[in-house]
Amino acid sequence: MNQPDGDAPAIEGRSITCGYDGRDVLHALDLTVRHGAFVGVLGPNGSGKSTLLRALTGVLPLKTGHVALLGLSVRRGHRREIARRVGVVPQTSAAPFEFTAREIVAMGRTPHISRLHGESDHDRLAIESAMARTDTGDLGDRLISELSGGEAQRLIIARALAQEPELLLLDEPTAFLDLNHQIDVFELLRRLNRDEGLTVVCVSHDLNLASVYCDRLLLLDEGRIAADGPPSEVVTAQRIREVYGAEVLVDQETPSGRPRVTLLGGRN
Ligand code: ADP
Ligand code: MG
Repeated sequence: MNQPDGDAPAIEGRSITCGYDGRDVLHALDLTVRHGAFVGVLGPNGSGKSTLLRALTGVLPLKTGHVALLGLSVRRGHRREIARRVGVVPQTSAAPFEFTAREIVAMGRTPHISRLHGESDHDRLAIESAMARTDTGDLGDRLISELSGGEAQRLIIARALAQEPELLLLDEPTAFLDLNHQIDVFELLRRLNRDEGLTVVCVSHDLNLASVYCDRLLLLDEGRIAADGPPSEVVTAQRIREVYGAEVLVDQETPSGRPRVTLLGGRN
């Protein structure tokens, strides 16, 4: 994958403070993500995971701080170029129900499609490939209102892939999926990451899935970074107890070599 912006990391966030209605949710967060990384963002409900994604993508204005994606400052009029090169899968995608599955995926091409010439062969290939890779190819003419939550969710991922992004940010993309499709999504993200060099930042509430697939985990706690590093360092029983207030057993000697969390029940 080309890196036209020289040495700029995929994400550079400095001293990010932001929130809602005058209340700060993120407190002076620093975050750098290198090209080719596969980062999982974890943390309890309300710890600021979605807010962080909104801050990184410029949806939520910062109170202080600075964010650059692929070397492009999010604040400074790079919106169109960022829209072409950065894919976003938001947490809840209220789907506009009059659209067919293919139309939803085709929306991912919008920043690329020339108003003059319409959909090119390349656009069509990108749409087909995105649908094939997300196992949504046979949904083509179905209305999104008639799909299951899992099918709709895979379509939203397909829409982001159709865009052919260099950086993909996802907010709990497996939230409504059954176990098989959760694994499918993470397998797909891993393939895109390893084979195509896509940089992936994925919010998840699943400590085990994120530990297996991500190379780096960021654990948020009340708008601050409680831990940041490889899964084996971030996912420890003590840290889960501190951040989630839950008693767990963490096994580091697993077939995947990644930590595995077992709930023991009982909160402290
Ligand atoms: P997470 O994604 O980790 O569950 P969020 O980033 O959604 O957490 O929320 C962090 C905090 O910000 C919570 O206290 C939540 O209530 C608050 N919050 C989130 N979205 C909004 C919003 N649109 N308006 C006001 N407060 C919000
Ligand atoms: Mg969230």
